[in-house]
Amino acid sequence: MTERLEKLEKEISAELKGAAGKQDVLGIKTKYLGRKGEFASLIKDLANLPPPDRRQAGEAINRVKKKAEQEIAKLLEGFQDEEKKQRLTREKLDVTLPGRRERLGRTHPITQVLDEVIDISTGLGFEIAEGPEVELDYYNFEALNIPKDHPARDMQDTFYIAPDVCLRTHTSPVQIRVMEKHPPPVRIIAPGTVYRRDSDLTHTPMFHQVEGFMVDEGINFGHLKGVLTHFLKRLFGEDRDIRFRPSFFPFTEPSAEVDIQCVICRGSGCRVCKESGWLEILGCGMIHPEVFRFVNYDAEKFTGFAFGLGIERIAMLKFGIDDIRLFFENDVRFLEQF
Ligand SMILES: [Zn+2]
Repeated sequence: MTERLEKLEKEISAELKGAAGKQDVLGIKTKYLGRKGEFASLIKDLANLPPPDRRQAGEAINRVKKKAEQEIAKLLEGFQDEEKKQRLTREKLDVTLPGRRERLGRTHPITQVLDEVIDISTGLGFEIAEGPEVELDYYNFEALNIPKDHPARDMQDTFYIAPDVCLRTHTSPVQIRVMEKHPPPVRIIAPGTVYRRDSDLTHTPMFHQVEGFMVDEGINFGHLKGVLTHFLKRLFGEDRDIRFRPSFFPFTEPSAEVDIQCVICRGSGCRVCKESGWLEILGCGMIHPEVFRFVNYDAEKFTGFAFGLGIERIAMLKFGIDDIRLFFENDVRFLEQF
């Protein structure tokens, strides 16, 4: 045993002296100190010795093993230091070079307008509500006083998922969903994406709307006019003229379209406003008593108004963009202008 141990000690010393790098040392470490290494087999063989000799032999093995471990650790450290030194001379770091700046993105123009609309409305005390984009026919049409055979359905080219399920064509169904759950008074805006089978310079199959409505005792058309006038002047500028025109929607009575003075020609007439001097900006009206019946509101006691506007249209007018599709092509050259 003693002889084997002495031989082993010499062997390790010689091999370590010959080691040229970290890998060599690690190889030697495994060969001798590893789980199936030389020391492991020595310790196993201790069992063959007569019991009185075992203790002494064990101690001897441990001493040599510990020495080998120390030498290996020292060598490894040396090689590691050297490697580090080499890397430092190879990779010269110039701390005076300017850093690389992260390119910051910015808010999408549609989101900017949405944020502005939300900001103005919440300032008027409106709360935000949301609804599903895949909607039941009942909420999208029926409860808004547009029955199955009503010609008003033709005004909205609808994506149907199933006979009674569609992608919502407007944000108005949120009105029904909110009123079903909350008794008046309510003052809500509902921003979101809507879908129609439409695609050209001014239409995309997916676009954004904001629905707003207010129901309480004694709400009249004057409130509607006041809120929307304030809203549009905040959005387009105090000096912009606004007009209300009679119109038709199945879910409001009376209904109106709201126009603003043309943002391009300021009323003198141009191609964009088709020489009229006015641009149509939103639809609105007093909520139809029939709609209140669907949500069990007392139409004798409560009245309310509702309005809906397209965010893309507002963004196009605000920023002077003539093709709606630019918003969704995600071309950075376009997006970084806002
Ligand atoms: Zn014009």
